[in-house]
Amino acid sequence: MTRWLAEYAWLPDHAEPTPDVLIEAEDGRITAVTPLVGGGAPAAGVEVLGDATRLPGLTLPGLANAHSHAFHRALRGRTHGGRGDFWSWRDVMYTVAARLDPDSYLALARAAYAEMALAGITCVGEFHYLHHGPDGKPYDDPNAMSAALVEAAAHAGIRLTLLDACYLTSTVDGEPLVGPQRRFGDGDALRWAERVAAFRPEDGHVRVGAAIHSVRAVPAEQLATVANLADRAGVPLHVHLSEQPAENDACRAVHGCTPTRLLADHGVLGGHTTAVHATHPTSVDISLLGESRTGVCLCPTTERDLADGLGPVRRMAEAGSPLSLGSDSHAVVDLFEEARAVELDERLRTRQRGHFTAAELLTAATVGGHAALGWGDAGRLSVGDRADLVTVRLDSARTAGVPPVGAFFAATAADVTTVVVDGRTVVAEGRHLTVDVPAELHAAITEVTRS
Ligand SMILES: [Zn+2]
Repeated sequence: MTRWLAEYAWLPDHAEPTPDVLIEAEDGRITAVTPLVGGGAPAAGVEVLGDATRLPGLTLPGLANAHSHAFHRALRGRTHGGRGDFWSWRDVMYTVAARLDPDSYLALARAAYAEMALAGITCVGEFHYLHHGPDGKPYDDPNAMSAALVEAAAHAGIRLTLLDACYLTSTVDGEPLVGPQRRFGDGDALRWAERVAAFRPEDGHVRVGAAIHSVRAVPAEQLATVANLADRAGVPLHVHLSEQPAENDACRAVHGCTPTRLLADHGVLGGHTTAVHATHPTSVDISLLGESRTGVCLCPTTERDLADGLGPVRRMAEAGSPLSLGSDSHAVVDLFEEARAVELDERLRTRQRGHFTAAELLTAATVGGHAALGWGDAGRLSVGDRADLVTVRLDSARTAGVPPVGAFFAATAADVTTVVVDGRTVVAEGRHLTVDVPAELHAAITEVTRS
């Protein structure tokens, strides 16, 4: 049995944090959550607190990063040549993609995931499409790159949902993959499905899900093959959707409909599906997503970095789409920043304040993200859930004087002091216990960006 005494803890269905909460866990699960009465005095029936680890500040459930491309971490700060547009970003991205092999992928992903752990992220959804050798030839183990990601997450101490992405073509009208893109492709959706079905990691920290890279990368007649595999296996299915208006234009030109309609017509939408970005949906698209309970994963810091635009986020939430958050290209790894951007971007878009409560932002960052990644038993400080704890200090230069309920509008990843994943402490006093994160990031990124 492990016990923690949180100065404040944000409990499920509470509009704001509760002071003095005793949290107990055994075998990685929360066994008791007990608010103490009157400033730390034990309530009746609660034993002495001598063995409880004190957690000064605000303790949250584990944060879920629902959309990641681990290797994009090597691009941070390197994509602004000239003035830096989407294409200069993609050129650098392809240069890095061309260099990675299972060993360097493991080193880079391990460091990137450890940075996430430092930021309070206890679970990551890796949207994985870097499958094969640089010329498109499969490795001896065709899932060697997937295995590298599983190992990386284990070293970093966080859970992983490996969203294995089907990526077959380079344009909506079916042009073949060329150059660095050849690594992404399996030929057709059936061969993709065979490879994914053969990958069965048994580690408790990982689950395998599916992804459609985008309507650009999977021909319409093969969308159902991917959707059926995910449906039969009961695993999450993620898809990049309408990130840029150009994708909508190309889809209309080829198929006569929006990407969302195309996905709906081929059985891709539903409660196990998450649309990533959904920045440029039509009103009908919003209804299709909401009525099917398709989730929407927002990646505001990447969307701002890539000049994608601002999506109608509140409308999508009200239409019925659960929200989750992702750091995507890792221009920033900070779910506090992603969460407040959901509200702040909506203010910029509408010139009005007050679209989301702090509790709604917390839900997107925690239970919403975990649900999108297939972990229905994580993201809440409640009995029976996974024992994930993230403590944020309230005495830093950023957070001093801030009421606990305001943490999502003040704290940064640098304010995270303690991270517990499945009952195991991964970060203490703001330091990762097993990975020297800055040193490993520096080494791994130098290795794959050297000219
Ligand atoms: Zn992405």
